[in-house]
Amino acid sequence: MIRTKVLVVGGGPGGYVAAIRAGQLGLDTVLVEADRLGGTCLIRGCIPSKALIHAAGKFDDMRRAVCDGIMGITLREAPSIDLNRTMLWKEGIVDRLSGGVGVLLRKANVRVLEGWATFSDAKTCTVRTSEGEEMVRGGTRDLGERLESRGSPRTGIRRPRDLVHRGLGAGPGA
Ligand SMILES: Cc1cc2nc3c(=O)[nH]c(=O)nc-3n(C[C@H](O)[C@H](O)[C@H](O)COP(=O)(O)OP(=O)(O)OC[C@H]3O[C@@H](n4cnc5c(N)ncnc54)[C@H](O)[C@@H]3O)c2cc1C
Repeated sequence: MIRTKVLVVGGGPGGYVAAIRAGQLGLDTVLVEADRLGGTCLIRGCIPSKALIHAAGKFDDMRRAVCDGIMGITLREAPSIDLNRTMLWKEGIVDRLSGGVGVLLRKANVRVLEGWATFSDAKTCTVRTSEGEEMVRGGTRDLGERLESRGSPRTGIRRPRDLVHRGLGAGPGA
């Protein structure tokens, strides 16, 4: 059984940012990810789609420039595209960014567990890893205290009740 203060399931932008911040605050943190670090955004969503759209845009610009001469730019021949190489280039970007997330997690002392998590209660999950099942239990009482002592760098909000005073969140009876 792995015991940790903060247990994060999912290494996408939601999960890795939370885990890195918890680690930076000095909280013992475990992040569980079944696939590659980065989630939908880095692995198959935002980043790869923008990379491919960028390559398609370059190709289209070149195609339009064939015997065109607008802005004085002319290509003698139509461009060609090797989609395998385009995909390799895109994968290189994804690998670099996913690796970068791993580095940031390591720097924040977050333990990464590869596998699929299934919760048995609000704080405990079983993670199916390549080497078998691992039980992880998270739970901290001092998360609020840590946040309170540091405050938010962006908002300056220090205590959970400030959220209620400022109308930014729900409190008891809100
Ligand atoms: C084609 C495409 C383009 C997009 N473009 C943009 C864009 O330009 N800008 C933008 O803001 N958003 C974009 N998005 C949306 C963006 O990808 C999501 O909003 C974002 O990834 C959500 O982050 P998340 O951490 O909540 O979830 P995800 O990124 O989906 O991460 C969840 C992670 O949790 C893991 N996981 C889930 N369940 C378990 C489990 N039980 N055990 C272990 N691991 C688990 C998954 O493997 C996954 O890695 C795009 C999405 C797509 C599909």
